[in-house]
Amino acid sequence: MIEPSEFHEATALVRGGLERSQFDETSEALYLTSGYVYPTAAEAEAAFSGEKSRYIYSRYGNPTVSAFEERLRLLEGAEMCMATGSGMAAVFASLASLVGAGDRVIGSRALFGSCHVILTEILPRFGVDTELIDGTSLDDWERAITKKDESGKGPKAIFVETPSNPGLQIIDLAAVADMAHAAGAMVIVDNVFASPVLQRPLELGADVVVYSATKHIDGQGRTLGGAVLGTKEYKEEYLMPFTRHTGPSLSPFNAWVLLKGLETLRLRVDASSRAAHDLANRLEPHPLVESVGYPGLASHPQFDLAKRQMQSGGTIVTIDLGGKSEAFQFMDALSLFDISNNVGDSKSLVTHPATTTHRRIGAEGRALVGIGEGLVRLSVGLEDVNDLYQDLDRALGAIRSSNPNQLP
Ligand SMILES: *Cc1c(COP(=O)(O)O)cnc(C)c1O
Repeated sequence: MIEPSEFHEATALVRGGLERSQFDETSEALYLTSGYVYPTAAEAEAAFSGEKSRYIYSRYGNPTVSAFEERLRLLEGAEMCMATGSGMAAVFASLASLVGAGDRVIGSRALFGSCHVILTEILPRFGVDTELIDGTSLDDWERAITKKDESGKGPKAIFVETPSNPGLQIIDLAAVADMAHAAGAMVIVDNVFASPVLQRPLELGADVVVYSATKHIDGQGRTLGGAVLGTKEYKEEYLMPFTRHTGPSLSPFNAWVLLKGLETLRLRVDASSRAAHDLANRLEPHPLVESVGYPGLASHPQFDLAKRQMQSGGTIVTIDLGGKSEAFQFMDALSLFDISNNVGDSKSLVTHPATTTHRRIGAEGRALVGIGEGLVRLSVGLEDVNDLYQDLDRALGAIRSSNPNQLP
């Protein structure tokens, strides 16, 4: 197997984690098995006592899942990677394995809907104190991170998403990690929107990175998956003792699909990101678009930070069309962009966050993170960019204003 220092990224993405079976197949073998057999009772005993390291049961480990974990680990440059059955299983395991009653977690407010539910509803049920703040304000971070409870204890973990879904807010990972480490807290980053090829949170100071592999890593709309990456110490001390017994394991079949996704990840993400940037540029001056959100545009409030922290602006663009009626008319008039709440797919997708992914956080919650009724999120795929622009432009032209004073 290859080591990260031996080869460059492109090589690791195609060959990382590859361990051929006795049949010398070209493509990665798919070990669709739940269990493993032992030649003797003594070997089973040695496996269970930990004396012998080998596969025991696919809830703990599986060769195809290990290959996926190793390939992603090499890409991220982490000490360890653990795959999970979905992105949310990764998010929950990363936090639930670490914190307990009486601990405090601070999160940025602009979060994926289900991450928001974990922080504001699920963890508090287990006695974890959670606080959501404006992730773009370093003053807010400073205040929340330096706060101590009655016993003088600081926060245990920081959870952030950057760029955020769907507002594309950028959080200064290096600055937040410095503050968190000074207070003894671990930093967990949901890096889904940037993907592992456009942003490297571990190099910026993060301790743990989580992914929904469902998004860019599969990138072809086929399977759910997730991963947690970090240090071996975090795995041994927190993650493994939790996941072994709670079972958020990734299926070997899905791991195989995701291995194949990793082979083309850089090519797909770079192509979609180039197209997204081009579309953002063309949409910004469009008379029917009120505003465009894209971290690669100079008009983005954290453009400089995004430029420092990310390799490019990413594959997702938001546009504000004023109101729900305009947004719905626009979406219904699109013919190439499919209405779907997924992102990072090779097919371009469009969603209305206020009524779908972020419905649950309520109008007040949405207002706090800038998700208006007119906001539309575009996930740019791999189609020809001119066809995509033509589709957007034609659908914008199909909007009939709900303002009766405006001329048609
Ligand atoms: C989709 C998503 C998740 C959850 O991933 P699933 O694979 O759907 O469970 C978490 N965070 C972000 C930012 C996402 O976009």
